[in-house]
Amino acid sequence: MKSLGITVLGSGSRGNSILLHSADEGILIDAGFSRKEIIARMLKSNVSPEIIKAILISHEHGDHISGAKLLADNFGIPTYGTSETLKHLHVYEKLGRDVRIFESGSVFNVGSFEIRPFSVPHDAADPVGFVVTCQRVKVGIATDMGHLSALCLKRLSGCDALIIESNHDVEMQKNSERAMHLKRRVLGKHGHLNNDDAMSALPHLISRNTRFLCLSHLSSECNSQELVRKLAENKLAELNRPDILLSIADQLIPLPTVWMNPSEPELCVF
Ligand SMILES: [Zn+2]
Ligand SMILES: [Zn+2]
Repeated sequence: MKSLGITVLGSGSRGNSILLHSADEGILIDAGFSRKEIIARMLKSNVSPEIIKAILISHEHGDHISGAKLLADNFGIPTYGTSETLKHLHVYEKLGRDVRIFESGSVFNVGSFEIRPFSVPHDAADPVGFVVTCQRVKVGIATDMGHLSALCLKRLSGCDALIIESNHDVEMQKNSERAMHLKRRVLGKHGHLNNDDAMSALPHLISRNTRFLCLSHLSSECNSQELVRKLAENKLAELNRPDILLSIADQLIPLPTVWMNPSEPELCVF
């Protein structure tokens, strides 16, 4: 039985990219670092860029697309997005040559990956999260969302692995030196998910089969890995689920790859 590898190459307001891969094929969710940086992080994670079959773009913000064009053209990888997102990127000449459209709500396949994009509340043209199923492992990913809509809760619940945003501490955000319009944007319903909302959602999202939780897109100014880890550990203990592997995504370095195999309850991490 093959396993699915999940490698968070990096996450935060200065770049986001998540790799889902088996031994011979992979997809990249967002390409928010330079081409050189993404390649370096992939190689550091022992994954060859040659196996990438698709770059899926969640939305057009720079921290999700900055390396997409060069990476796509360098390796002949198709770039997938909603028509609104792609239209926006096309205007700014940020798209590679091979472009493919998906619709949120419609399932499509890339190799052995089954992908279901869904709309998320964020201030972009047509932002989406993804539920990806491969090797009978279901991974839910939503890194930029102002709140967890009913649709987000529905799509993200029951996943074997969950990668969601835990962007900021509300008080730290309010008391920060940031410009008022930025604070309003981040705190708004179409901004970024705060720690409290992320933790309150966990009882609704986690199910019996959930084995891996990664909290991501942490604000460098208004949050800390230690705080998010503590909150999440407390919540998982409260839910009587200390067995779930907890990771906090890092901006600067890739997380160790988590290998999931439905027939083996133990996760391999390296
Ligand atoms: Zn964004
Ligand atoms: Zn972002």
